[in-house]
Amino acid sequence: MKALLIFLLLALNMHPAVAQNYDRMRENMVRRQIRNRGIDHKPTLEAMLSVERHLFVPAGQQARAYDDGPVPIGYGQTISQPYIVAYMTQLADPKPGDRVLEIGAGSGYQAAVLGEIVEQVYTIEIIPELAARARGLLRELGYDNIEVLTGDGYYGLEKHAPYDAIVVTAAAEYIPPPLIAQLKDGGKMIIPVGSPFLVQTLMLIEKKGERITTTNLMPVRFVPFTRRN
Ligand code: SAH
Repeated sequence: MKALLIFLLLALNMHPAVAQNYDRMRENMVRRQIRNRGIDHKPTLEAMLSVERHLFVPAGQQARAYDDGPVPIGYGQTISQPYIVAYMTQLADPKPGDRVLEIGAGSGYQAAVLGEIVEQVYTIEIIPELAARARGLLRELGYDNIEVLTGDGYYGLEKHAPYDAIVVTAAAEYIPPPLIAQLKDGGKMIIPVGSPFLVQTLMLIEKKGERITTTNLMPVRFVPFTRRN
């Protein structure tokens, strides 16, 4: 009985009607949650239409993949709400030739969205199991312009610096100085700053020569930026 049920579920999952359903859910997500809320950056909208978000959440969560909120991905972490991914991507202002650094690969979804737009994405994840999963999935999906590294993103990735944009998807108590140092002149960093589990502020950091400007964007809630100890 149980075996039959599992077979039916598997068969259903592979049915083309279900795949079409995900396409429709994704179109609705982009229209209702993203475009209707003012995101008009075309490359972001196109990337979020093409990246199959349901592949980035655990099998048991796929039905929730296009919901208007974060979804658990295991190890106490979440894939960010679609609107937040779109908002951060638009603000990073990614362009085709860019090199972008992400801190907090998680599921790999934000990296995939960036990878659709820019030339090269480096993304760092501190939880080895999540890093391995994201690496495997992104490779399977053919993103040969995305490299997933395991480690503490506090130090950034000196090797390929400077970056046109840095996107941080975990909330830090303060902005890690190495990340500011690795931002290109004219580059942009998006980072949630504040105490874990309290309301944080999404901030835009811009580097213009010696000048660093910061803009508070909106209150957000991200999982904490952790350190290796
Ligand atoms: N961008 C992800 C969101 C994942 S949530 C996505 O699209 O799915 C944030 C991730 O940041 C978590 O997976 C968490 O483990 C990771 N993280 C927290 N502190 C980190 C650090 N110091 N360095 C690298 N990754 C970190």
